[in-house]
Amino acid sequence: MSVEFEAAEALRHIALDETVKSYVLQHPPLYQSLRPAAMRFIGGETLNQCVEITKSLNQQGHAVTIDFMGESTRDASLAEQATQEFLNVIQAIAEQDLDASISLDLSHIGMVVDPELGYRNACTLAAASEQAGLEMMISMESTDRTDLILEIHQRLCEQFRNVGITLQAYLYRTYDDLLAALQRPGKIRLVKGAYEAPQSLARSRDAELDAAYSQLMETLFQSGHSCSIATHDPSLLSDAQKFIQEQTLASEKIEFEMLQGVTPERLTTMRDSGYRTRVYLPYGQEWHLYLCNRLAEYPPNLYQAIVDIVSSDV
Ligand SMILES: Cc1cc2nc3c(=O)[nH]c(=O)nc-3n(C[C@H](O)[C@H](O)[C@H](O)COP(=O)(O)OP(=O)(O)OC[C@H]3O[C@@H](n4cnc5c(N)ncnc54)[C@H](O)[C@@H]3O)c2cc1C
Repeated sequence: MSVEFEAAEALRHIALDETVKSYVLQHPPLYQSLRPAAMRFIGGETLNQCVEITKSLNQQGHAVTIDFMGESTRDASLAEQATQEFLNVIQAIAEQDLDASISLDLSHIGMVVDPELGYRNACTLAAASEQAGLEMMISMESTDRTDLILEIHQRLCEQFRNVGITLQAYLYRTYDDLLAALQRPGKIRLVKGAYEAPQSLARSRDAELDAAYSQLMETLFQSGHSCSIATHDPSLLSDAQKFIQEQTLASEKIEFEMLQGVTPERLTTMRDSGYRTRVYLPYGQEWHLYLCNRLAEYPPNLYQAIVDIVSSDV
């Protein structure tokens, strides 16, 4: 086992530890020193900062999806506050005429306090998004939450047509989940999967996962359903382009989506090739988990993080 692999697994594990998250938030010197490393991957800590970065990405020809970062809220009043903040995001997008949608974790808006609370808050946001003509994307979380998230998505789709869902290619179950999601309205975003997951449920991060992603992507393309190919993997991006060209697929319903600060040049290349592109732009103060996942995905980022921390003014 390589040291990079071990570092990645350790970071994924830390990312799931809620006590570490609150420790970082409650210790200003630690928070302040890690902050510069997180800034590379986020749209700032406030909505205003995020709006400014969204405008600049729009000017570069990329749509944006804005996420007020957070997950696993254990308190109903904090879940209400998060829902209110997402309403502010929707209002800012509409008022400033941004080319943007919203993305959220259902556990951030109450799903782990009570699934009905999560569902009700998601309805509030789906309705406000619909009224503003926006799309709302639901992120996919750890495997103990997959069923509940898909069930809430199904219920939302009985009322709304603007609610999309994220599916993780690393899960063995995803082909069946994809066939079910294709029966519902709303964009389907395909990702590899970021969370630690039991071997019995998930493929390891190797060629088998890439083959599964490719197969799911082809099924999505052939369906003609609105979709987001959310990967930075150059060989999957090239498979996607080949498939679109060979099958002469209409590209209006296909979008390529990447994370803020991760391989922006690849997204620009896709834009220059005439594809629709979108940047996932999270903002807020709960960046601890998000930063750990970005470092785990690509351990050389650890060196960049050290440079960012050491060269900041803090
Ligand atoms: C828009 C979007 C939404 C997402 N939503 C979810 C979600 O809801 N649930 C979930 O589990 N996961 C989500 N993810 C994360 C996803 O599951 C992967 O963990 C992440 O995208 C990395 O996988 P990859 O497909 O880029 O492939 P990888 O094999 O991880 O990476 C391929 C190549 O991309 C580059 N790269 C990838 N990551 C980085 C990085 N952090 N820094 C620098 N270079 C990098 C490297 O060159 C690497 O070799 C989302 C990803 C995107 C883009």
